[in-house]
Amino acid sequence: MHIRDIFQQDSTTFSFEFFPPRTDPGWEALFTRISDFEALGPSFVSVTYGAGGTTRQQTHDMVVRLHRETKLDPVPHLTCVCHTRDEIEHILNRYAEAQISNILALHGDPPLDRPDYDRSKDDFRYAIDLVKTICAFNERGAHSDPRGFGIGVAGFPEGHPATPQRLTEMDHLKAKVEAGADYVCTQMFFDNHEFYDWRERCELAGINLPLIAGIMPITSVKNMQRMAELAAGTRFPARLLKGIYRRQDDPAAVLQFGVLWATEQCRDLLDTGVRGIHFYTLNRSDATRQIYQTLGAKDSAALR
Ligand code: FAD
Repeated sequence: MHIRDIFQQDSTTFSFEFFPPRTDPGWEALFTRISDFEALGPSFVSVTYGAGGTTRQQTHDMVVRLHRETKLDPVPHLTCVCHTRDEIEHILNRYAEAQISNILALHGDPPLDRPDYDRSKDDFRYAIDLVKTICAFNERGAHSDPRGFGIGVAGFPEGHPATPQRLTEMDHLKAKVEAGADYVCTQMFFDNHEFYDWRERCELAGINLPLIAGIMPITSVKNMQRMAELAAGTRFPARLLKGIYRRQDDPAAVLQFGVLWATEQCRDLLDTGVRGIHFYTLNRSDATRQIYQTLGAKDSAALR
């Protein structure tokens, strides 16, 4: 379903992020558990796109499989690093043929396995260039939906490390939105005040699109450290760290605390009229399910 229709249908959207598993058993394990995610009735799910190339085909395969075999509505992430314009056109054509309705248009993390990669050869410099390319594709009418793909972009409540000048950063976000985005999904954050302040700054800048809050339940100390690497600039509040470190010898207690923290974030976001919550699930349903349970909801409809 086109994202504009999803926002019209759901007063608050709930969405889950997956990544393409690297192994066959990983795929089977995820698709065996997929009914757990379906039961929560998300508005849509999204599938990450590997930087540097290794899992790129898998993103397409996973999106198409989710679309064909499940009740979930998959949104592929697409990044512009290490891509030519022709490659992007080819990918858009394939998603249009598969009747995928929406795309999250991103810059992409630098390729880990190609540290010397020369970005100057890329056809795209920033995510805005990808947004414009998707809009041009939409205008050509190559999609069965006359509106073409719905387009999401990324936002960073705590700032993006490449633009320390925060006023300029908001200008860049606004330009990306005006280029044709339909919604903004944020980087994970652990202190809701960061999101609320950013949301107000977006309003001041005249950004009036749905702003979806990215929530990542911490499930282990290792997982927190990995997230700190992937989401550079994300602040881990002292109270959160104290709670995690106090329990670090007891993995079950760390998980319980991480889920409790994320649950409290969600409760507070829902109380203040958040437009959507996006759960970084890491392909596991347990933490997200526990959040719903603690909030007293069997599925997304019951949370609205
Ligand atoms: P951009 O909008 O291009 O911004 C990148 C930087 O450039 C910012 O600092 C911005 O201020 C600056 N900038 C923008 N325009 C200009 C300009 N005209 N002049 C100068 N500076 C400018 N990465 C992946 O590789 N795969 C994924 O699947 C993936 N999924 C993500 C999902 C979400 C919800 C989020 C929040 C991030 C995701 N990322 C993913 C990471 C993301 O690609 C990186 O964090 C990237 O560095 C920023 O992406 P962006 O789309 O915001 O980039």
